[in-house]
Amino acid sequence: MIKLKCTTTNCQHNIKDHCNAGIIGISDKAVCSSRIKRAGGALEQTFAELEASEEFLSDAPNVVQCNACCIYQKNNRCTAASILVADHMLKTKCMTQIKPKHKK
Ligand code: SF4
Ligand code: SF4
Repeated sequence: MIKLKCTTTNCQHNIKDHCNAGIIGISDKAVCSSRIKRAGGALEQTFAELEASEEFLSDAPNVVQCNACCIYQKNNRCTAASILVADHMLKTKCMTQIKPKHKK
């Protein structure tokens, strides 16, 4: 199981920094490809968070399928114990990515 914290301000899968998508995809650019923007935007997310009960926030097991160049990526799966996903420029990206050093 992987622990995933996501601080995006606008995704239908996100409640209070938790991701309830179950399986998410991270692209070769380390961008979350499972993000679905809420029709009402960040404001709608704020209301959803106000209504969410705490029990709903129990950590669901997450599978992260990942195509990024990263030391944690094995057979297109993320093997990191925990990852952080956050808004970055116009995309929502995995911030835990560590690119392997290229051999000389
Ligand atoms: S942006 Fe990605 S990691 Fe974040 S809540 Fe949405 S689907 Fe989950
Ligand atoms: S830590 Fe690495 S392998 Fe895991 S999701 Fe992020 S970029 Fe992909």
